[in-house]
Amino acid sequence: MRHPWRAALALVRSAKLSAVSPFSRLLRITIAVMALGGVAALLVYGTYTWQREKNETHTNLGILSGFLATATQSWFDNLGNNLEPLGLLLDQRGVLTQPETARPILKQFMARYPEIGAMAVVTPQGATLINTAAAPGEPLPDFRADPAFLAKFQAALADPALYTVGPPEYGKVIKQWRFPFRHVVRDTRGAPRFVLQAAIPLESGRTFLQRLPLPAHSFIGLLREDGYQQARWPVSDPAAIYSQPLRGPLQQAIDANPQQRAGVFAGKSLWTGGNSERVGAYTQLSTNALYAYVSVPAAHVWDRWWLQNGPVLAMFAVFIVVSVALAWRVAMRERSHSRELLDLARRDSLTGLPNRAAAKEILDRLLGVADSAGQPLAVLFLDLDRFKDINDTLGHDVGDALLTASTAQIRSALRGADVLARFGGDEFLILLPGADRVGATITTQRILAAFQAPLSVRGHTLAVTPSVGIAVYPKHGHDAETLVRHADTAMYEAKRQGRNAYMMYAEQLGERLNARTGLERELREALQREEFRLVYQPIIDVASQRIVGAEALVRWVRPDGSLRSPAEFIPVAEESGLILPLGEWVLHTACVQARAWRQQGHDLWMAVNLSARQFQDPLLLPKVEAALSHGAGCRLELEVTESAAMRDPQASIALLSQLRARGVRIALDDFGTGYSSLGYLKRIPSHKIKIDRSFIDGLNREPDATAIVHTIVALANALGLETLAEGIETEAQFHAIRALGCHQAQGYWISRPVPAADFVRLLAERAAA
Ligand code: C2E
Ligand code: MG
Ligand code: MG
Repeated sequence: MRHPWRAALALVRSAKLSAVSPFSRLLRITIAVMALGGVAALLVYGTYTWQREKNETHTNLGILSGFLATATQSWFDNLGNNLEPLGLLLDQRGVLTQPETARPILKQFMARYPEIGAMAVVTPQGATLINTAAAPGEPLPDFRADPAFLAKFQAALADPALYTVGPPEYGKVIKQWRFPFRHVVRDTRGAPRFVLQAAIPLESGRTFLQRLPLPAHSFIGLLREDGYQQARWPVSDPAAIYSQPLRGPLQQAIDANPQQRAGVFAGKSLWTGGNSERVGAYTQLSTNALYAYVSVPAAHVWDRWWLQNGPVLAMFAVFIVVSVALAWRVAMRERSHSRELLDLARRDSLTGLPNRAAAKEILDRLLGVADSAGQPLAVLFLDLDRFKDINDTLGHDVGDALLTASTAQIRSALRGADVLARFGGDEFLILLPGADRVGATITTQRILAAFQAPLSVRGHTLAVTPSVGIAVYPKHGHDAETLVRHADTAMYEAKRQGRNAYMMYAEQLGERLNARTGLERELREALQREEFRLVYQPIIDVASQRIVGAEALVRWVRPDGSLRSPAEFIPVAEESGLILPLGEWVLHTACVQARAWRQQGHDLWMAVNLSARQFQDPLLLPKVEAALSHGAGCRLELEVTESAAMRDPQASIALLSQLRARGVRIALDDFGTGYSSLGYLKRIPSHKIKIDRSFIDGLNREPDATAIVHTIVALANALGLETLAEGIETEAQFHAIRALGCHQAQGYWISRPVPAADFVRLLAERAAA
């Protein structure tokens, strides 16, 4: 099972530029580190300072709430403690019988406690005896008329504490919101005699506000355990706040941790209509079931934090952005620059195609993708047939133009995803992602078809054909190198089997290649062991039918006596360069043989074949001279193939002229199979044209063949050259070439190539005939 994400990953990887300069890479890493590190540092610093600010706010609020708790407690205790002696004094003065005696004493007491709004004395049954807020004789409220109030009042009577603090109520006499502060005066048995009550108007808490160093928009207050507010500053709607218990964030925090005497809370305040987020702290009073609290808007924390850290953070952020932007710009410029350079180094300047190095790299990448996607990939190795001939005969400019034209031709047969690269000289590499053997074959046939029509290049009409070798991943290899090598082997085989063809790689091809390497080694050994022999085929004069010469043909006699044909080993000898020592041996042996026959009275021309490689050997002339000196008096004729002579016409003309000057005759072998420029043919200093066997073969059968031979003979006559017909196998052929005016003939009908000893017998037979 293939993973699609693996394929995607491979694609991403392949899309990346694989060759990045170390500087650019370093720069990019630096940018990434700076950006990431900067953002991380900002986050860490921000979080740290924010947390610190929050903690600090909590601490400050905690201190304030603690201070409020302590101050309230001491205020209550102070007031509560002094109510006790006041109660005793009032009792002594007979307040129960003459309430008005209490008025001046109460007034005096109130002067010491500015937060007290009014004072009253109430009987345990709830009847008010005196109230400082009411003038003498004014009617006083009777608690007995209000049963709910009476119940609360009598609950306070049962409380053994020195003083009790009642929930806020609207004071009917002092006409404002206040809470009652009560002290119960008891007899010696503990039974209540009367209650001394101080009304604390809620407004008087303002004195606290003024004393506390509070931040703006602070709320402070006292919360009762039963959920009612004891006091609260500031307050806009006292009735709403004091008349019911509310469960805001503070109550929730206290309920969540009932054991805790102090803590913090946060949430939406109910007083502000539930739309403002606040943070606060609370502390429980030491002897009372009350909590003192302070809260501030949550935005206050943010404000303080921003005030202290904002400028630093903003500067830091700007610094990061600016430096990352700068580094990015430099990196981008560097990248585009290195891309340009890379591109130049990776493109073939003539065709604009990826070059060999780039092709390998692209193949590597595509193989990665193919591997991940589980898809095949075809590698085509294309070589233009006889490109070298064209380059040599028509010049490099035409050769270059031909390459460009061929590129367009190949391209026309490819799809968009296919890759075309120039591998070297006239070699192209074509990569077909996703193509299996069938797909590759179809594309290859399209390429061959594209070359069907001759190309018109710089005024020349050239028939160019490609040979293509195909290797398919994963069947024929898994790595780039193996695939290319196998495609190359297949291409080589396609060429061997007649050009303008394609070949799919197969194991046997590799074996054949190995066989060639094996053959090369064997040839080397054969040369050392002197396993080569020469055979001679007679050449007769058509008119007299007498033997006038012999063509020396090499044979390889294996140690087991079997023979190997030159058609088999000459190409390998050419490729490996072994033809040079072999050819030298042939030349020498043939010349020595010619001298021997001459000494026996046979005056013959000795024809020796030269391969293209020998023809280019700069030491050819001295070698020929050495052979001639060993075979003194040898009349030597060198056979050169048309294409070998035409490879470098200028040099050929010079070399052939020098040979000619030494009395060596030149024959153009296999004439008609190559393509010659008539102009050069005229200038090439040859003596003889050997008409290729394929034309002779067609005589008497194909009318064209007769016409061609006729034309060749006419042409040779016009140029003053002799003609020889090769491969005469029948009497009919002999008559035909005689009728056409050929001067000489050679072929099995006359004699097969024979060893030297047999050749002498042939000479004798002919002489006798
Ligand atoms: P080539 O130079 O064209 O030699 C003529 C070839 O045609 C010889 O083949 C010969 O045996 C064959 N032949 C002659 N008459 C007939 C005929 O009537 N019918 C048929 N079917 N064939 C005939 P061979 O000896 O096998 O040589 C093949 C080629 O190998 C030669 O073609 C030549 O190009 C090359 N070669 C042979 N010996 C040498 C050598 O010493 N040096 C070089 N460089 N090449 C050689
Ligand atoms: Mg020959
Ligand atoms: Mg020949």
